[in-house]
Amino acid sequence: MLTPLEIDSRLERILPTVQKPGRYTGGELNQVVKDWNSVQTHLALVFPDIYDLGMSNLGLAILYDQVNQRPDALAERAYSPWTDMETAMRQHGIPLYSLESKHSLAEFDLIGISLPYETLYTNTLNLLDLAGIPLFSSERTRHHPLVIAGGHAAFNPEPMHAFIDAFVIGEGEEVIHEIIETHQDCRQSGTDRSSLLHALAGIPGVYVPSLYQAHYHPDGSVMRVEKVYPTAALPIQKRIVAKLPPPPTHFLVPYIDTVHNRIPIEIMRGCTRGCRFCQAGMITRPVRERPVNEVIAAVEAAIASTGFEEIGLLSLSSSDYTQIVDLVQAVNQRFLGRHLSVSLPSLRIETVSVDLMDAVMDERRTGFTLAPEAATERMRQIINKPVSTAQLIDTARQVYQRGWPTLKLYFMIGHPSETIEDVQAIADLCKTVLAEGRKVIGKRANLHAGVSTFVPKPHTPFQWAPCDTLASIREKQALLRRQLRGDGLKLTWTQPEETMLEAWLSRGDRRMAEVIYRAWKRGARFDAWKEHFNSSNWLEAFAETDLDPGFYTHRERPPFEVFPWEHISSTVRKKFLFDDYLGSQRAETRHDCRESCFACGILPTFAELRRGNPGDVWKCPDVSPRQKQIQ
Ligand code: SF4
Repeated sequence: MLTPLEIDSRLERILPTVQKPGRYTGGELNQVVKDWNSVQTHLALVFPDIYDLGMSNLGLAILYDQVNQRPDALAERAYSPWTDMETAMRQHGIPLYSLESKHSLAEFDLIGISLPYETLYTNTLNLLDLAGIPLFSSERTRHHPLVIAGGHAAFNPEPMHAFIDAFVIGEGEEVIHEIIETHQDCRQSGTDRSSLLHALAGIPGVYVPSLYQAHYHPDGSVMRVEKVYPTAALPIQKRIVAKLPPPPTHFLVPYIDTVHNRIPIEIMRGCTRGCRFCQAGMITRPVRERPVNEVIAAVEAAIASTGFEEIGLLSLSSSDYTQIVDLVQAVNQRFLGRHLSVSLPSLRIETVSVDLMDAVMDERRTGFTLAPEAATERMRQIINKPVSTAQLIDTARQVYQRGWPTLKLYFMIGHPSETIEDVQAIADLCKTVLAEGRKVIGKRANLHAGVSTFVPKPHTPFQWAPCDTLASIREKQALLRRQLRGDGLKLTWTQPEETMLEAWLSRGDRRMAEVIYRAWKRGARFDAWKEHFNSSNWLEAFAETDLDPGFYTHRERPPFEVFPWEHISSTVRKKFLFDDYLGSQRAETRHDCRESCFACGILPTFAELRRGNPGDVWKCPDVSPRQKQIQ
């Protein structure tokens, strides 16, 4: 194995030959470099896409901060090298290495991979291969690192079950410490790899796929997933933290431009709106807010340690944060005259007030984004994003009036029961909104419509729904392309083949692992990148494995069918989700559950945590000290 010095000296030769060498050098302000030999546990935090994207991943920044606070452990980083760098690394025999100390990833004890979305799967295989770590968990020995993955995609871990030793289901801030301690205990007692995996399976929220087996019906649907190790949990329940821990503030400051050059402060976790297509909204419940004074203190500390001039106040729905106007005004007052921009990336139409728009300090005022997701009130009821068209147009007018020349509207096509008229309505609504903008600020007004395609994601009320067909998606996109052109209008859309890949991977069972492996062998990499995605790699991989891609995507699931992810519990009950699915077919809406609880399943599961953290910390009802359960 190459030493860090040898890796460094080979890098000196290849870095001048690749694009953006700053992606591969480390050395950024605020990086943490510990003495390798002074700690027991070495953790590599890996984002399976390029540095420019991975540097903005808040989950990894939180874990980097958490682990590096421990005197007995270190956390370093690695990202996917872009294709030119990968070729150069393979040619020069350089394994994937960490940016901080230049150790080969194979030398670490633990590899923690972030999987926020499914199109990172082939890159994950590629990273392991580049690190010289066996791709299949079953081929790793006690001399190899333990490969762990977490993130939203881990809520259906089955397609990646063969490659990952253990998944973290849910929030990682506490689990990561328990994994480190279990690993240290096992090493001290000299246990083998299989005993280590058994010990890890004893940590709540940790799923070790090799301790479970899937059985299938003759028609290919899942019969059941059973545990083959008696003390393994079934189902595997997600972990949450009762209260958001203090946010990281010593963010790394890159030498090169990255996707977001800003301070990301999470102001709230979870969402209670219940949009029926939204996996994040379902799996991150309950809502927990960070107090205003804690956010302000974090912004202060982060500005002092980084010098960034933009702050992102992040959550799934920032305008739903109870004191959002007070918070933004407080940030304005505190940092007046320091040329700061404040961005609120996720705003709901019905909660964007004039006061909030006025408070947002975005000196550039380039674009303002709203996501109605559908253009007719009927369809917005079906997806449970009820807002009237009049309210949407009124909010759009206010946005233009307040100095944003470009309004971005995000829509989805392919929702359950969508007709071509619902798609036509997207074009009509965009033209109406642009016309309103032009009344207010004339020709300066622009409208950008971003149209993605619905994928029925696991753990959502729409998980029973089928995905639209390629032919139907193409017809709908052709209509939008014909209609949404001309002065001031811009349309972007997702390629239908990319949507199919996302659907296969997010809805797949264990047999998809073979498809992923074969697609990777055929050259699939960077599937999230248009210029690299090649659908034929995947179709050929399906053909080789005798699996029908349409089986995963185009069937409406009967109510009794066992989902491949059913042994993973988001703690939102299946019955709650199914009732909500039936409600969508009757165009019934559910309001924000902070107004009244719908008994989704969170409170019975986490009653003890809630009882120990009463009051406004959560947005679910309190659990009385005398009551066992309130639902
Ligand atoms: S327990 Fe009630 S309030 Fe809490 S997330 Fe579920 S439905 Fe909403």
